[in-house]
Amino acid sequence: MELKDKIVKAFAEHFGGEGILFASAGRINLIGEHTDYNGGFVFPGAIDKVIMADIRPNGTDKVNLYSLDLDESATFGLNEEDAPAAQWARYVFGVCRETIKRGGTVKGFDAAFAGNVPLGAGLSSSAALESCFAYAVNDLFNDNKIEKFELAKIGQSTEHNYCGVNCGIMDQFASVFGKKNCLIRLDCRSLEYEYFPFEIDGYRLVLVDSVVKHELVDSPYNKRRQSCERVASRLGIETLRDADMEMLESVKNEISAEDYIRAKFVIEEKERVLDVCDALNRGDIDTVGRLMYATHDGLSRDYEVSCEELDYLNDIAKECGVTGSRIMGGGFGGCTINLVANDKYDHFIATAKEKFNARYGHEPKIYDVIISDGARRCE
Ligand code: ADP
Ligand code: MG
Repeated sequence: MELKDKIVKAFAEHFGGEGILFASAGRINLIGEHTDYNGGFVFPGAIDKVIMADIRPNGTDKVNLYSLDLDESATFGLNEEDAPAAQWARYVFGVCRETIKRGGTVKGFDAAFAGNVPLGAGLSSSAALESCFAYAVNDLFNDNKIEKFELAKIGQSTEHNYCGVNCGIMDQFASVFGKKNCLIRLDCRSLEYEYFPFEIDGYRLVLVDSVVKHELVDSPYNKRRQSCERVASRLGIETLRDADMEMLESVKNEISAEDYIRAKFVIEEKERVLDVCDALNRGDIDTVGRLMYATHDGLSRDYEVSCEELDYLNDIAKECGVTGSRIMGGGFGGCTINLVANDKYDHFIATAKEKFNARYGHEPKIYDVIISDGARRCE
């Protein structure tokens, strides 16, 4: 049964009658890794994997949720002390609270929801969940008066204040602003953004999930951030966004070799995002792919956030003639994102499964993605 039909049916069973359908999407990031906290660019897009919710105001001050995927229910009030215990329900509670904190209106509602964004795979199922409900609450109770950027911030603050995840804005931004066949370049310093058509006739995007997670990413992540901050401060600038290689070379002897190599990656990555956008505008897919490989090499050798499994998947991609391949996300596990010509696709996937399984004892998971619309009311 289609996702939509499943949800409509569950709504009828749990609450009777029907609601209004809303959806929002998971996301990929084509290029621009570890650039967000350096004031640089990211280049995400929403995908054809969504969280969908059937929602109806219920005339009370209580929210009743049913999660199809977990087969669990939760009920909560809308005051700060009403936070539900279940983690999944806290995402929705947080969205309600953050809307109210910003002066928006939220009243009681019933909702049944489900999704096909894989959980915890790096495609941001949590942002999809937040954006879906933030969009719905804005539509149902606020005449859509809350601006889209604020909806993304409501999702981000939900992660910070109700889910203990100190994330940036990219995931929620992409989920809210996503547009079919477009990637969005977000300037993480000014928060200005620009849509770029992502038309890749003859190619596909596929994620290969290593299903490994090596370390608590927190401490190496913080170490990378500190390196960047030290170099920026040595250069007398706020973030590495304002640095170029010439500036970095000029202080090379005054900073540690480690700080140098980390900053070099960030400076190069910032440029690569801009170069990918130019290449897309020219329809030059080969260059897009080449830059993706360059990002992988930088993440692996210079920023040192890769791992054996991800490097192996990258090697397999290269061997199979995949146009572009790189780690997606912070590193130390998770997925590679691959730009593959249609005629190379089957061979690549079969080889990746076989070789990875032979070496690590399990197959990677494969997620085909199409760049699609973000948060919306479904007609
Ligand atoms: P991701 O990288 O996918 O965002 P997170 O750990 O940030 O991973 O978010 C996953 C959490 O979001 C889940 O543990 C669950 O609480 C919630 N979630 C995501 N998708 C669903 C779903 N389909 N149904 C219920 N809860 C979901
Ligand atoms: Mg998440």
